[in-house]
Amino acid sequence: MAEQEASGLQVLLHTLQSSSDKKSILTILKVLGDLLSVGTDRRIHYMISKGGSEALLQTLVDTARTASPDYDILLPLFRLLAKVGLRDKKIGRKALELEALDVTLILARKNLSHGQNLLHCLWALRVFASSVSMGAMLGINGAMELLFKVITPYTQKRTQTIRAATEVLAVLLKSKSNGRRAVNRGYVTSLLWLHQDWHSRDTANTYVQIRRGLLLCLKHISALRSGREAFLAAQGMEILFSTTQNCLDDKSMEPVISVVLQILRQCYPKSPLPLVTASSAYAFPVPGHIATEPPCDLPEGKIKDLEDDGDDEVDKDSDTEDGKVEDDDLETDVNKLTSKPGLDRPEEELMQYEAMCLELSYSFEELESKPGGDLNSEKTQYANHHHILTAASSKQHCYNKDQSSCGQEREDSVRSSLLCMVKTQRSTVHLGSKRKPGVNPYQNVQSNSLGRDSSGSEIPDIQASLKADAWDIDAIFCPRMSASFSNSTRTGEAVEVIDKLLQTHLKCVPFHDPYLYMAKARRTSSVVDFKMVAFPDVWGHCPPSTTQPMLERKCGVQRIRIFEDIRRLIQPSDVINKVVFSLDEPWPLQDNASNCLQFFSKFESGNLRKAIQVREFEYDLLVNVDVNSTQHQQWFYFKVSGMQAAVPYHFNIINCEKPNSQFNYGMQPTLYSVKEALLGRPTWIRTGYEICYYKNHYRQSTTAAGGASGKCYYTLTFAVTFPHNEDVCYLAYHYPYTYTALMTHLDILEKSVNLKEVYFRQDVLCQTLGGNPCPLVTITAMPESNSDEHLEQFRHRPYQVITARVHPGESNASWVMKGTLEFLVSSDPVARLLRENFIFKIIPMLNPDGVINGNHRCSLSGEDLNRQWLSPSAHLQPTIYHAKGLLYHLSSIGRSPVVFCDFHGHSQKKNVFLYGCSIKETLWQAACTVGTSTILEDVNYRTLPKILDKLAPAFTMSSCSFLVEKSRASTARVVVWREMGVSRSYTMESSYCGCNQGPYQGLQFGTRELEEMGAMFCLGLLILELKSASCSHQLLARAATLLSAEEEALDQHLQRKYIKRVIKVLKMRTSWKGTLFFSCPWTSEIQVLQALNSETYTLSLPGLSSLWSWTENYTISFFSSQAFGLFLSPVTGFPGSLPCRQPVMRHLSLQNHGSQFP
Ligand SMILES: [Zn+2]
Repeated sequence: MAEQEASGLQVLLHTLQSSSDKKSILTILKVLGDLLSVGTDRRIHYMISKGGSEALLQTLVDTARTASPDYDILLPLFRLLAKVGLRDKKIGRKALELEALDVTLILARKNLSHGQNLLHCLWALRVFASSVSMGAMLGINGAMELLFKVITPYTQKRTQTIRAATEVLAVLLKSKSNGRRAVNRGYVTSLLWLHQDWHSRDTANTYVQIRRGLLLCLKHISALRSGREAFLAAQGMEILFSTTQNCLDDKSMEPVISVVLQILRQCYPKSPLPLVTASSAYAFPVPGHIATEPPCDLPEGKIKDLEDDGDDEVDKDSDTEDGKVEDDDLETDVNKLTSKPGLDRPEEELMQYEAMCLELSYSFEELESKPGGDLNSEKTQYANHHHILTAASSKQHCYNKDQSSCGQEREDSVRSSLLCMVKTQRSTVHLGSKRKPGVNPYQNVQSNSLGRDSSGSEIPDIQASLKADAWDIDAIFCPRMSASFSNSTRTGEAVEVIDKLLQTHLKCVPFHDPYLYMAKARRTSSVVDFKMVAFPDVWGHCPPSTTQPMLERKCGVQRIRIFEDIRRLIQPSDVINKVVFSLDEPWPLQDNASNCLQFFSKFESGNLRKAIQVREFEYDLLVNVDVNSTQHQQWFYFKVSGMQAAVPYHFNIINCEKPNSQFNYGMQPTLYSVKEALLGRPTWIRTGYEICYYKNHYRQSTTAAGGASGKCYYTLTFAVTFPHNEDVCYLAYHYPYTYTALMTHLDILEKSVNLKEVYFRQDVLCQTLGGNPCPLVTITAMPESNSDEHLEQFRHRPYQVITARVHPGESNASWVMKGTLEFLVSSDPVARLLRENFIFKIIPMLNPDGVINGNHRCSLSGEDLNRQWLSPSAHLQPTIYHAKGLLYHLSSIGRSPVVFCDFHGHSQKKNVFLYGCSIKETLWQAACTVGTSTILEDVNYRTLPKILDKLAPAFTMSSCSFLVEKSRASTARVVVWREMGVSRSYTMESSYCGCNQGPYQGLQFGTRELEEMGAMFCLGLLILELKSASCSHQLLARAATLLSAEEEALDQHLQRKYIKRVIKVLKMRTSWKGTLFFSCPWTSEIQVLQALNSETYTLSLPGLSSLWSWTENYTISFFSSQAFGLFLSPVTGFPGSLPCRQPVMRHLSLQNHGSQFP
């Protein structure tokens, strides 16, 4: 604003205050009004800064205090004040100081019967009351009584004034003292009556804003405990519920309904969960721990404990996904970031791990004894898996006694190796046909193939099989039961029936064997000694032929479910409330004849604790908390039977714990139907609709929370339409993968490998607390012979260490691991190269006990094992203790892994991504620059995620983070990085849901996509090696040949630039034997770069004009091959989040070792 104008404004304001001439005051008010009616808010702010508010208030007071106030002046003044006051945060205080607050209230009182004058006073009062303390002041001065006189009784005269009065009242009631005053004067009842009057008479919804204003008054009052009590006593729940039922779909009523929901949720009486105890239904005596009696929930008389005064959560379909790192959790202690702690145990102890690294000492004498002999001719029963099933290859791999039928498929699969599936190949995605929510995903197949298997031949009536009296379809008896059921013929018969079913119906599932599974299950030990195994685990799972899209969320789903919850409270007459399953009560609870579903969960990874039938087709479910714990409810897995087909059943899991879930963003739970399996479709599919996840009215009582304020619970609700009548189905949070499945899988893998080529060894890392062996797998290539040279090469292969499933609820991590393992032993040429160049040490399940007993987060000691890496105990956390020991051992013999990666599942984000560790990025993020310039840090930790970003369809660099958080100090990733000095130490997170980028955008993960990720991770390790300076000539040459060969087979239309670039550079690097040295006597900033790039580069330069460097951050290009000059410019920021530096031009010396340089 120009200076001239500014001084003009000041003159105007000054004249306004000092003038007593009506005509000039009116002129000034008009000028000010015109001035503010155009332009932006900046004008108003400017006027406020020049004392505009004070000038207006002073004029108001002066005018109002005359014997007969002049409303010709007052009305435009009020209008200006209402406008300016909206932008002036201090308007209330200014009004109080200048006594304009009192004056306005007096004027309002005088004008109760004069609509226009009153309305203007109310506008001013609304802005004066915008601060809570001014609102309280107005309340003391009787403003609420005044407003109540304006709004009662109901009338449709003066609606503008009534609207303004309700709005002022709502603002006043934000003050707690006003709220209490309102309760004491019985305003809650009056407001409810008014609400009803308006509701019944404003049938055209003309006065929605008045109705919303009244409800906002109620909402603010019910933020107080006494307000809620008054509201409930006045039948508020019933009144608001019934008045809104007939207008839920009316868009114009939206402002009213959203406030009604907020009030109803706020006032819904809080109650404890319907459980006898907050602790787990399963207890495990941890050795050396004194069992403490867990605090009990007291179901009655504790409601007051559960109330909190500040629950003002806004009801809104939340659409922000969280997952941000809190900056104050960043580790900013440079010392902690850079120092390396000493051993956490006596050094002698590390000796024991030599036994787990037999590959370093084994002499392979048998190789000599049978030169060229076929060692494995009898052992290749399973050896026909060329590579894993991936999304790109829909071929079914079979393992069967009848191998001949698989022959052709094997031939086909040889042609498509992993390289054909890199990210850019979109055509590989099998997109499921978009189906409408609520439509049964099985329906298509059901209608045309019921009673037939996939090949079309008649199969015996499934119904008859299911009804077979000898076989209890409830679950398959585990053979271990034979002993305890020896006096019963039932088990014997059951096994026989299973046998028969397997012979008749079994569809071959790759890398699965039901008989072996049952045998393995016998050795799996669980806390309560499970007697059953779940059908899907025995029978196996084949990924569906199509990838399922994310569920589109219907508008208002959450609202409908919340109203349903409220309906239960106020219309309890049709609520059944019958417990139909409970781990806490004597079995059986239900007679099978009754018309309700039957539930069961006493099997491996199962964790349903209680099921309550609410209505005929609606059930409340509670999942068991982790053993020896009172929390971590998220994972679920249970069996349900006795259903009718084509009827929507609603399931509400009411004791979820996380504040948000991917169930609000397109994720569906998984379902396995036994009948479908017997029809030849043994498949876990995503299912369910009307899915939402929201905070409910259950609270942990303060007693159970140990005096702390009780935490909230969340409901996951979904509807399922089952594919068959009288089926047996299993529902789970995510595709289950049990410990027994792993043990079965490892045995099959071991049998599948070509012993001439693959060195595959299973060791036991340790026994778990629960008495289960924790497997450690070693995979590498067999040495070519037992000559010294070959043994030398074999023993000097660098290590790669991969772990998974430390969190038992993250079954997605196991599917990724399955993909990794199957790929690594496969005959894929990439896998062969990897085996020949690395030794893989893999711990596929760090927490077997947690997986077995249906935990989500913890081990049997009730601890999160991924928070125990700093100082694990051999007794309490044996798997972590020994995993760390093994890594210590490798480090102590100078063989720390190239990469350490721990596979996890992520419940809040989509895609797959890595977490790594960087000192510099952490300090930069925390804006802590002290000493950063002196810290040398290799940025090689970014290379692998960047490679995966380009290769793996599910992977995204954009979610990766390399920040070191204090709260993560005791995780595998941070400890392996700090204590073992592994710079590429990662956590790999896979979404439970699916992808929102790349070729899989909009799709939910199936097991195939997860397994593919596991294989892609391996390919990433190979490319990482090819990019490293230490990569051998031999590997480069072989990789170049392999990649070139693949390139020819590729579809030219597919943009596979990345692989092409790799091939191009590989060719360069292998055909010329010169050596390029980087020498960078540069500034300190560049020294980091120098440390990175000072390795010797072997290059090929056949008449090139350009080549790429092997560091991701910089492009090196020859601008003149004669000049030996290099142009070095950053192509991305360094690293990531920092602004891009200026390009630097430097000469590098090139030493040509005698080769022909073009
Ligand atoms: Zn995890």
